[in-house]
Amino acid sequence: MLEVVRVPVLADNYAWLVHDPESGATIVVDPGEAGPVKAAAAARGWRIDAVWTTHWHTDHTGGNEALKAAGVEIVAPSAEAARIPTLDRGVGEGDVLMLGRHAATVMTVPGHTQGHVAFHFVEQQIVFTGDTLFAMGCGRLFEGTPAAMFANMLRYAAMPDATQVYCGHEYTLSNARFAAVAEPDNAAIKQRLAEVEAQRAESQPTVPTTIAAERATNPFLRAASVEAFAALRTAKDTFKA
Ligand code: ZN
Ligand code: FE
Repeated sequence: MLEVVRVPVLADNYAWLVHDPESGATIVVDPGEAGPVKAAAAARGWRIDAVWTTHWHTDHTGGNEALKAAGVEIVAPSAEAARIPTLDRGVGEGDVLMLGRHAATVMTVPGHTQGHVAFHFVEQQIVFTGDTLFAMGCGRLFEGTPAAMFANMLRYAAMPDATQVYCGHEYTLSNARFAAVAEPDNAAIKQRLAEVEAQRAESQPTVPTTIAAERATNPFLRAASVEAFAALRTAKDTFKA
């Protein structure tokens, strides 16, 4: 069993420490800053072996330099090498990364950024989605088309129900409010909005989520066509939660 630890960084980012107790290996996904990530690892007696970067945005890579200086290998999308100067090892679609004896398949999931990747531990049913799939939402299209991001949504939707989804931000409350407007007759969305409101009122995290929960309550994952997806994305861009 892999151990995943949430490390809140910056305003609303999550970095994720992933530890394999059997081998002692530890990686961190998207350290937006190094300090809190190092502290969280040290508190558990873990040594960070590698950074796995989903995309070049600085709220996901801001800690790379300090960690690299401490001897940590930086794994990042090769397609974004020019924008990630700390990169040691480039990866893309279909590459396999190991954490101890556990394999993670790299998925290229463009749209938010052109070279964006996700890390999928297929056997463990864990996926790190960065800024593509969020709890009840999806990332903005800064460098890609609605068709590209919609294709990503279909890939996520095809994963097993129990798959744990670890995304890059705590955006769920805003996403849930939008979802309730986008699908006013969806009872599962209504119920989850109430849960998320209660969690956020107590400053509780709402991530990870599951593919089953997203299939029931994420309008972007539920969109019936690229056109429907594109309309949702445009509406969300200007939605005031
Ligand atoms: Zn981003
Ligand atoms: Fe981000």
